[in-house]
Amino acid sequence: MGQAILSVDIGGTKVLAALVSPQGEVIDRVIERTASLDGFDAVVEQLSKLARLLAERHRGHAAPDAIALAVAGAIDVTRGVVTTSPNLPEWKEVPLRGIVSSRLGLPAYLINDASAAALGEHRHGAGVGTNHMVFMTVSTGIGGGIVIDGKLYQGASGAAGEIGHMVIEVGGPLCGCGNSGCLEALASGTAIARDASERIALGTFSSIPKFTRDGATITAEAVAMAAKQGDPLANEVISRAAQYLGAGLANVVNIFNPEMVVVGGGVAQMGEMLLGPARVVVQEKAFALSARAAKIVRARLGGDAGIVGAAVYAAEEMKGNKS
Ligand SMILES: [Zn+2]
Repeated sequence: MGQAILSVDIGGTKVLAALVSPQGEVIDRVIERTASLDGFDAVVEQLSKLARLLAERHRGHAAPDAIALAVAGAIDVTRGVVTTSPNLPEWKEVPLRGIVSSRLGLPAYLINDASAAALGEHRHGAGVGTNHMVFMTVSTGIGGGIVIDGKLYQGASGAAGEIGHMVIEVGGPLCGCGNSGCLEALASGTAIARDASERIALGTFSSIPKFTRDGATITAEAVAMAAKQGDPLANEVISRAAQYLGAGLANVVNIFNPEMVVVGGGVAQMGEMLLGPARVVVQEKAFALSARAAKIVRARLGGDAGIVGAAVYAAEEMKGNKS
């Protein structure tokens, strides 16, 4: 049995660094704002600092065996390179694995954050015990990860699982990826906020602005709060997003015939308001055999899924058990 893994989830706004036990427990964690504005070197410096901090807090315990890095974007897992990252736009072809490994003197492993979260939910969260599981995270964007026969499926280049960028509506709204009509552009938190803002700008009355922090900037959270209070526009916006989410889930269910689809992310915290109607769409649109097999459930690990899963990935790679 190995020692703890130092696991880091590098996002556009925050860096979460943690010591994770071989049993997938988060022993300790530190969260900081990402130093990305100061460039790539500043982020690497930040990682070293957080690693030292965690090591000092746990002096006397065995030092971590390895460092696991979870980053959003197109990760070339064979070369350990972040090719592009939507949250860190200045990162292009960054050989993060090698740099961090030599800087910290530890073996390093690099994985896409949503793939990591999928592995986390499969090994230690909602997906425990399943063989075929798909993970979907719905927040400002939509990401995903695929587990087939108990193993993480990463594709030819490590880029598999981009569920959020399946095209649902040809010619639909512009997506952050540059394409249009992606699931992310129709059912993410960003899409929900945009849809509500557009309808309000057209003159439809709504109580949504009352639920915003500044009385004007509409967020998915404000839409959800207004919907809970019975606001008709908010309910319409969420029900539309749920229809698209259901269509995306039906595609996933038809393609992978999974036992379970685990849905996480901030927007999924709306719970049944979003997932209930989405499940109905899956029953209507997916093939009956697959629709019957697929439980659509909420994620269990919350914001820890990425660090737990990245640690699992590193530990399994070290054992030579390619997952
Ligand atoms: Zn897209």
